[in-house]
Amino acid sequence: MNAVLHDAETIADRLVETYKDLHSHPELSFAEHRTAGIVEARLGELGFEVTAGIGQTGVVGVARNGEGPTVLVRADMDALPVHEETGLDYASTARTTDPDGHDVAVMHACGHDVHVTCLLGAAELLLDHKAEWSGTLVVLFQPAEEYGGGALEMINDRLYERVPTPDIVLGQHVGPAPAGLVGAHPGSAFAGADSLRIRMFGRGGHGSRPETTIDPIVMAAATVMRLQTVVSRDIAGSDMAVVTVGQLHAGTKNNIIPEEATLGVTIRTATVPVRERVLGAMRRIVYAEAAASGAEREPEIVTEETFPVLVNDPDATERTVGAFRTAFGEQRVLDPGAVTGSEDVGELSTAAGAPLVYWILGGVDAQQYAAAVAADRVDSDIPSNHSPHFAPVIRPTLDTGIAALSVAALEWFSN
Ligand code: ZN
Ligand code: ZN
Repeated sequence: MNAVLHDAETIADRLVETYKDLHSHPELSFAEHRTAGIVEARLGELGFEVTAGIGQTGVVGVARNGEGPTVLVRADMDALPVHEETGLDYASTARTTDPDGHDVAVMHACGHDVHVTCLLGAAELLLDHKAEWSGTLVVLFQPAEEYGGGALEMINDRLYERVPTPDIVLGQHVGPAPAGLVGAHPGSAFAGADSLRIRMFGRGGHGSRPETTIDPIVMAAATVMRLQTVVSRDIAGSDMAVVTVGQLHAGTKNNIIPEEATLGVTIRTATVPVRERVLGAMRRIVYAEAAASGAEREPEIVTEETFPVLVNDPDATERTVGAFRTAFGEQRVLDPGAVTGSEDVGELSTAAGAPLVYWILGGVDAQQYAAAVAADRVDSDIPSNHSPHFAPVIRPTLDTGIAALSVAALEWFSN
């Protein structure tokens, strides 16, 4: 196993430039053309059978190496409409037009560039170590995780008719934990997420004559505040739920009361009953606030994205974490608990009827992390995923990420 860790380091040395290149050329969901091209070329060089264009921009490499299980290792490729403010010399300055036609900055603010680099590294390492395993390796590069539809798009594009159906699905997400560490939580590990757009309708008019109008801004403002009571008043203290209003749009001019207001809301829950309770409470509040304002038209609530709860198979997680402990040592393996982020990797395992093990890969400089812990400032000093300041430290994040994917795959090849 020391050879795997050593080789991961050697490969990471070479992939630093690939990582920086991917980081400075981020692409939005379903627009990962350049990234997919790099992946396709590299997998071809390594000797994989490559299928590109699955689910629009998805790329899958297959390496057949005799009898044995089929192990699928997954990375996501897309970036976010975020203006990078890390100040790194390889920071992104990219801009693009988003699906709504807006000009936006683009940034790998969720670390999917780390995921792509690490999986390219693991693909190479596993082929170098071909003598030590037998079975079929499937490396899958998925589009549009952030959008919530990428995994399903690949499945609906006949993924498992075009590549072998896996016996196990493996993957990782870089996050705000010390670099060099990995950790998986058995059971419900990533929250389910629902993204909703709510339109509230008033009656527009002159700002000087509110009595002739129904003000959708006041209606929306009251709704935003009351929605914050869902978690505290409708949900048990022992249950996890998050309700965030991330967008609120209304109006064009100070002296005009507009016709309508729009809210963009994201919800995170860890179980189906809690999800239904949150959605029901939201609906009740939105309709009641509209009624309280005297709205003449009922609000509209549209679901834009849905991620299922990510469930790590408990037995498979124990086995994989055991392999991590052997490879990395106890002190480099943690249980991060259930996190409130969401992921669609579970679609790939559900469609295959295979267990899933998805772990967290630390991406923060260990000293910086320790200093933040000592100052009790982790929340304020360590940028979270999606922050314009999110900047994983390259080493040993890549080394550990390449090693973790390889160690986990090797474990599942050893029947
Ligand atoms: Zn993300
Ligand atoms: Zn992500």
